[in-house]
Amino acid sequence: MKKKIIVTGCAGFIGSNLSLRLLDDPECEVLGIDNFYTGSEANVSMLEKKKNFSFINHDIIEPIYAAADEIYHLASPASPVFYQKNPIRTLKINFLGTLNVLGMARKNNAKVLLSSTSEIYGDPLMHPQREDYCGNVNPIGVRACYDEGKRIAETLMFEYRRNHNLKIKVCRIFNTYGPYMSENDGRVVSNFINQALNGNNLTVYGSGEQTRSFCYVSDMVDGLVSMMATDDSFTGPVNLGTDDERKISEIAEMIIKLSSSLSAVEFKSLPSDDPCKRKPDLSLARKKLSFEPKVTLEEGLKKTIEYFRRKK
Ligand code: UDP
Repeated sequence: MKKKIIVTGCAGFIGSNLSLRLLDDPECEVLGIDNFYTGSEANVSMLEKKKNFSFINHDIIEPIYAAADEIYHLASPASPVFYQKNPIRTLKINFLGTLNVLGMARKNNAKVLLSSTSEIYGDPLMHPQREDYCGNVNPIGVRACYDEGKRIAETLMFEYRRNHNLKIKVCRIFNTYGPYMSENDGRVVSNFINQALNGNNLTVYGSGEQTRSFCYVSDMVDGLVSMMATDDSFTGPVNLGTDDERKISEIAEMIIKLSSSLSAVEFKSLPSDDPCKRKPDLSLARKKLSFEPKVTLEEGLKKTIEYFRRKK
């Protein structure tokens, strides 16, 4: 019997990269679920070329049932621009969507992995962020629809574990970039690369002194797949990302240089509640998953620049 795997959010950036990886194993059948709220039809068309892939166009806010041994639950808008576009919908996707996925997992007695987020930590007062840090989230700010949405999604996961003994895995994903990102999702790497390739100014928000740690998507996929394969007793939450922390102004300079662009940097106002710094403590991932990001920032940016250049 082939292993049945569901990927919610398969049309999105990490969802499509993860599905591609899972489809490499001919012993796996992948069922992708998405409603193209933020994901792309082109990503699904690419996945549909593989014969062990099938797809359901479905909004995860509504209940659904399909057979599965493992479920990767990635469905949610994830870039600040997209998750703030319809904040109530973001909340519904993370609460009702996760509830529906957990119901489906329970009926199947399937393992379920939630893609949670570093936003759980808000504007962190602990640096680097370790999984036992409870965070510094503004519950009524403009990012709360996503931050609190993901926090309640984690709570749901752990209540299903405590009450129904479900096999759960929670990964807290830090900033990730690479091929199949949407050109206009407003994230910093896709914005800067497209601005650099189009000869426009790179829009640095605030002073550019704020930091993030950028993980190339193939490393992130390694982490997700290894997490799913851990012993049932290991639930996480576990941080996934890189601990190579950089200032946003440095990212702008690197992208201008690596794309040989003549663009300049333009400073714009800092969005509300934008975290000042972010870097994961990866000790737990290293210990439990032997996780080690392999792609350097320079290599990853080169590949991503190449991807967007080819798309033009
Ligand atoms: N940012 C920027 N210019 C942009 C887009 C984002 O300077 O065109 C900044 C943003 O203010 C934040 C960082 O880059 O400090 C990362 O933003 P992103 O939206 O990629 O992800 P976040 O980590 O904030 O969820």
